[in-house]
Amino acid sequence: MTFEELGLSAELLRAVSDKGYVTPTPIQREAIPAVLTGKDLMAGAQTGTGKTAGFVLPILQRLSLRPTHGTRRPRALILTPTRELAAQVHESVRDYGNHLSVVATEIYGGVSINPQIKALRNGVDIIVATPGRLLDHAQQRTVDLSRIEVLVLDEADRMLDMGFIHDIKRIIKLLPAERQNLLFSATFSSEIRVLADKLLNQPRRIQATPENTTVELISQRAVLVDRVRKPELLAHMVKDGDWHQVLVFTRTKHVANKLTKYLDDHGVTAAPIHGNKSQAARTKALADFKANRVRVLVATDIAARGIDIVELPHVVNFELPNIAEDYVHRIGRTGRAGRDGEAISLVCVDERRLMWGIEKLLGREIEKQILPGFEPDPNAVPMPIQNGRNGAPRGRGGNGGGERRGRPGGRSGAPSGPRGGGPGGQGRGRGNGASRAGSPAGRGKSRASTAR
Ligand code: AMP
Repeated sequence: MTFEELGLSAELLRAVSDKGYVTPTPIQREAIPAVLTGKDLMAGAQTGTGKTAGFVLPILQRLSLRPTHGTRRPRALILTPTRELAAQVHESVRDYGNHLSVVATEIYGGVSINPQIKALRNGVDIIVATPGRLLDHAQQRTVDLSRIEVLVLDEADRMLDMGFIHDIKRIIKLLPAERQNLLFSATFSSEIRVLADKLLNQPRRIQATPENTTVELISQRAVLVDRVRKPELLAHMVKDGDWHQVLVFTRTKHVANKLTKYLDDHGVTAAPIHGNKSQAARTKALADFKANRVRVLVATDIAARGIDIVELPHVVNFELPNIAEDYVHRIGRTGRAGRDGEAISLVCVDERRLMWGIEKLLGREIEKQILPGFEPDPNAVPMPIQNGRNGAPRGRGGNGGGERRGRPGGRSGAPSGPRGGGPGGQGRGRGNGASRAGSPAGRGKSRASTAR
């Protein structure tokens, strides 16, 4: 199947071809015609499947069929859990709308609100926003959502995990009753189904990849190692394998910082990306990583949402996530849109239960390896990993970059490893840091884009 056969306009076909896409991905084949009908949609699609174009292309087509005359009021609203994802989706809107006269803007916290107010005042067709900052605008009456025709909840599962449900409900109340609703989610918990039941009207249901399973092309393995030797092993693997562009996940900001320092001190350029970093620092870390100026990007789960790097060959779980579904999200950063990728987990004795939970979720065993020189101590005693599913409830641990309102996020300052040495210690909690709504970090700019 080709993009032409999906019924897209000449301007969109040109934009798709500018991006170098030849054939639509499976989710695009299903979502594009479905969204073009104007009906509601519930799509199971994890990141890396091409889901963004799956909703952005048909939305652009629908909006451009009835162009705005006079003052532009927002007609499509795309909600995302994190700033990074909002920026990413906005970039896609600009790229795909390059040959259309559609105006889009991004709205999120952690940056000054004034450029956003200005962009909204100038008139926009599409808003890509995180919920908290959008509500700030609504309260200040700097945004008018009364003409929204299409609402998208992107990565809805993550939004619920981050505690955005009340914000989402408040936003929905500001929208006209008559509208198209699109819900994209990698996983479908009972919470998501409840939301979908309330939000969606006889939705078409599509599933890009089987729920909670990982993309076939990603090869996965686990390397068993002692807790304190993980930093050394990682530096060794990066150098020995001559890896470039490695995305490494830690459970906490604290470990992310310590690991970054360790790698830098041992000849591997690295940058951290997490919720305690200003938006400007996060943007710079990502830009340096994309431009190959740093080899390793060390990220916490939430901060990594929305990071889109084409052909990311290696993802490393320096620590396994507390929540098994996060493993699927993490490794979805590699093997994107049909390219090969490798996901490696460094697993110590403490993490056996987490590994088992992940294998249960995937419905298969992950290959285990021991590397010569890094054999784990067979007598090592497991140390407890706190929080996660057994401790802090979901969505109560800080969001590392989203704009969840109300409560500050989870604890930082996790203790270092039991021997106090490297960054291999088990941090406490899922808390990836907290950027509160409206925090005046404000360096970054809000971008309004006009596609001619
Ligand atoms: P997403 O799942 O929307 O985050 O997209 C993942 C990646 O796939 C992005 O880098 C897109 O630019 C890329 N992509 C999206 N659609 C296609 C396509 N039809 N062919 C090739 N790459 C694509």
